[in-house]
Amino acid sequence: DVRVRFCPSPTGNPHVGLVRTALFNWAFARHNGGTLVFRIEDTDAARDSEESYGQLLDSLRWLGLDWDEGPEVGGPHAPYRQSQRMDLYADVAERLLAAGHAYRCYCTAAELDERREAARAAGRPSGYDGHCRDLGAERIAAYEAEGRASIVRFRMPDEVITFTDLVRGELTFQPENVTDYGIVRANGAPLYTLVNPVDDALMGITHVLRGEDLLSSTPRQIALYRALADIGVGEGGVPLFGHLPYVMGEGNKKLSKRDPEASLNLYRERGFLPEGLLNYLSLLGWSLSPDQDVFSTDELVAAFDVADVVANPARFDLKKAESINADHIRRLDAKDFAAACAPWLSAPHAPWAPEDFDQAAWEAIAPHAQTRLTVLSDITANVDFLFRPEPVRDEASWAKAMKPGAAELLRTARERLAAAGEWAAEPLKAAVLAAGEEHGLKLGKAQAPVRVAVTGRTVGLPLFESLEVLGRERTLARVDAALE
Ligand code: GLU
Repeated sequence: DVRVRFCPSPTGNPHVGLVRTALFNWAFARHNGGTLVFRIEDTDAARDSEESYGQLLDSLRWLGLDWDEGPEVGGPHAPYRQSQRMDLYADVAERLLAAGHAYRCYCTAAELDERREAARAAGRPSGYDGHCRDLGAERIAAYEAEGRASIVRFRMPDEVITFTDLVRGELTFQPENVTDYGIVRANGAPLYTLVNPVDDALMGITHVLRGEDLLSSTPRQIALYRALADIGVGEGGVPLFGHLPYVMGEGNKKLSKRDPEASLNLYRERGFLPEGLLNYLSLLGWSLSPDQDVFSTDELVAAFDVADVVANPARFDLKKAESINADHIRRLDAKDFAAACAPWLSAPHAPWAPEDFDQAAWEAIAPHAQTRLTVLSDITANVDFLFRPEPVRDEASWAKAMKPGAAELLRTARERLAAAGEWAAEPLKAAVLAAGEEHGLKLGKAQAPVRVAVTGRTVGLPLFESLEVLGRERTLARVDAALE
């Protein structure tokens, strides 16, 4: 049975890299009919926050990523917040010490620094030098008498560690590069290095899919799993590991969680559809097929295989994310599109009074908007000309469209529009076309001043459909106002 986990630390805002990891684990679990465990690694009280915790849950739910065990759903290995499992880690640390898989290390930070520098200067590996590995009872007593603090350090076996990474293939680590490491602080607080593998072992995790930044800790963790099996913690298996590629941002630099474009909330606020964003995030290291970038979450689940994840860094490309999102917007049926737009058609986003919203006008214009939006938040500015008593007046647009001669054109256009037999897109277009011809202007040039007069901006939805929906009276009144 496949059991995977998503185990973020609740610090800061959810970011793209984190969500990509959650998504790959989720897709892997769903594809294999397995179990996704959601565990909160909140053992660092100084950095963790309840606000981040709440945001994590909320973000996953918004994206439609569900979990089978974890906060709010429970499960056989509850609790799923590490801050509530502290006794358990203390117990495991004691047992590791008793079995000789770990030892107390009395080295001070200054001593460690000094020896590390000396090792570097001599060209030797600069990891922990094993100073406290085999201290005699007398030495220990002396250190204790001195009042030295001690951490618990894991004893790495003196052997080569090899494993087959699900993404990168076989990897080998030499013992001199993977030295003994701390698992419990001097104040008794267990470290990530201990609690993460302990919980993976206890929770029966079979596959660990996580970021490449954690690759260097994997040989240490593999050794710890073996020690845990030795002292009877967990089922005894070592999970398979797959390290997901880095995500690169602007200028081919690693996307950092502090980069604004890394923030998941940004995409939500701009009106990405969850499906559109998931589709895009899944392409950060994986692809469905070379010629299909746009797919549904169901198609992703049906096709997802960690063996298809590539080791090369993935590039985060906002333009591509938007274009994929636009495709997902176009795929919605009319009802779902309206529902998705709803937040942007009311307070606090909408600048019009609620009573000025006109449902019939919205339904008439919606199909024209649906084919053009890349993000839902753009809907507000695209339809506000219908619901505000006065169009917005975008000064740059006015300066651009209201060139010398524009007033004459607008006057002619007004006459022709007023004379149009039927107030419908086709005859309205013919009217503006004819007005343009009279002034030696092509349609594109002729419609610019009309658009600005009526909508306040130079860009927007198809003009003649917009005029049709706005209606005769309001269209003509706005052209008159622009001519004053
Ligand atoms: N809590 C760790 C992190 O957020 C999890 C690492 C892992 O997946 O093993 O980096």
